[in-house]
Amino acid sequence: MKYYFCEELNNVISCFHDRIMSCCSGQIGPVYYEGYKGQKIDWDKFREIKYKSFDFLNEKDLENSPCKNCFFLRERKPFDVISPTFNLINVSHWTHCNCGCIYCARMTDSKGVITTKAQKSEYYDFLPLLKELYKQELLDRKNLTAFIQGGDISVLKEFEPMVKEFLKQGIKDFFILSNNIKYQPVVKKLLDMGNARFVTSLDCGNAGLYKKIKRVDKFNDFISNLKKYAKSKNPDRVHVKYIVIEHINDNKEEITKFINLMSDIGIKTVEFMIDNKYLLFSDLDKTPLPPHYKDLYFHFEELCKLKNININLWDRTRYVINKYFYDNV
Ligand code: SF4
Ligand code: SF4
Repeated sequence: MKYYFCEELNNVISCFHDRIMSCCSGQIGPVYYEGYKGQKIDWDKFREIKYKSFDFLNEKDLENSPCKNCFFLRERKPFDVISPTFNLINVSHWTHCNCGCIYCARMTDSKGVITTKAQKSEYYDFLPLLKELYKQELLDRKNLTAFIQGGDISVLKEFEPMVKEFLKQGIKDFFILSNNIKYQPVVKKLLDMGNARFVTSLDCGNAGLYKKIKRVDKFNDFISNLKKYAKSKNPDRVHVKYIVIEHINDNKEEITKFINLMSDIGIKTVEFMIDNKYLLFSDLDKTPLPPHYKDLYFHFEELCKLKNININLWDRTRYVINKYFYDNV
């Protein structure tokens, strides 16, 4: 019988606002605690869920697994061992944000409210959970990445305290996503220490379109903050995304403005990303991507080469590009 394996299931724990689960999809995959709101956790049961989920990853039982149809599954090799710890933790337990991107998947939860002052998560405090995860030896102390997304960190009261706790426990790698509207000295410090990658999304190259996409007039703040991070000791750790949004910024002119701007600021890595509407919520074999997306990607790639800027791709984007953009080239 064929057996399958998934690195994400083995290594990742995701603390979302409504559940604690395995991978970052938020849609499919085994769930450790549904409806988590800070309750006491039965840790034996918690551990058992991970092992039982692997039991289902075989030809016969996959049909009944929450991992069914996931492209991350691969055939299990003899050296694949189930780890008792996680080495990547997704921190995403709040939905407050100080802007309102038109593509935001969180908008239904945050009800479109734009929050300006830092406050507690509307769902649960992360710090007690983090301390407990360390106490239970569920996090790999030597080799842990904290992937902090949200909401936005600038309106999360717990942001700095949780960074401190991670550092106290010996973490060396943060991956921080932020809309970059508010400058965060702690992020600059982590960049200087070489302990963080900072990822933000601009999606355009001018103030008018920025306001249309983000629903706040903060283009200049974004640019001035980005310049400060780009001057850190590790500017290669600052990545800026261009999320392609249909009928909004899906044209070569805007992509050109964006790449030129990044080059002027000294950004060394950018990311081409396709709106999650297509990446997560569509079957692209049945509902294909708009045909011009392929051209947009190759234009993006060519400009980056010209300006000597690296392209970073999220796994799912890379998968889509390899599968759908290169077939007929
Ligand atoms: S197989 Fe897919 S759904 Fe299952 S844990 Fe891995 S990434 Fe998540
Ligand atoms: S910055 Fe992130 S959380 Fe805030 S509105 Fe945009 S996508 Fe949503």
